[in-house]
Amino acid sequence: MGYNIAIDGPAGAGKSTIAKKVAKELGYIYVDTGALYRGMAVYFLENGVSTEQIDKIGLMCKDAVVTLGYEEGVQQVYLNGENISGKLREEEVGKMASVSSAIKEVRMQLLELQRDLALKENVVMDGRDIGTNVLPNAETKIYLTASVETRAKRRFLELQEKGIPCVLEKIAKDIEDRDYRDMNREVAPLKQAKDAVYIDSSEMSIDEVVAEILKHCK
Ligand code: C5P
Repeated sequence: MGYNIAIDGPAGAGKSTIAKKVAKELGYIYVDTGALYRGMAVYFLENGVSTEQIDKIGLMCKDAVVTLGYEEGVQQVYLNGENISGKLREEEVGKMASVSSAIKEVRMQLLELQRDLALKENVVMDGRDIGTNVLPNAETKIYLTASVETRAKRRFLELQEKGIPCVLEKIAKDIEDRDYRDMNREVAPLKQAKDAVYIDSSEMSIDEVVAEILKHCK
């Protein structure tokens, strides 16, 4: 049985940056579970499904086999054997993942894969329902959040740095919509686990958050 650290929280709270650093510090494997939902989303988009066709998603997902691998320590996502890691960060894929991750069949299909990984390895796993649903017995649970304004600003700067045109208000609205969908879906909604440590990173640096989390690990 591995030592499991679960980090949950809303989109843009800095989970992946922080979780990667915590994993490096401890020599654990970092598992980005959002990438699994994104992998599944690539399958739906490539097969012509739109976010309005929710009924199709449940039926189709059994044909999308998503698996994880690691290349030089970096997580790779495979869809029916093909490495699709390069496609995961596209805006359209994020939107589809936000919608399709609410479907019960999609979540059921990815549950075992996540649990298997955590059973075999010491992991830092980030997502929305890790501490509440995927790994309810995780040794350390963190709920990492930040205000909508902070998260929108961080994303805005990130896109600007990449030279991608963007509007701050639109990003903030998008974040609010994603929060709503994640927190109000019927299956495994985003919420703080009772035994999770709450961290609001709005006024904290990355290193401060990492140090705070490490305090709660064995
Ligand atoms: O974290 P990331 O933005 O990459 O996740 C993509 C989408 O997958 C999110 O919008 C969220 O709705 C969903 N997700 C989820 N449960 C997880 C991880 C991600 O529902 N454990």
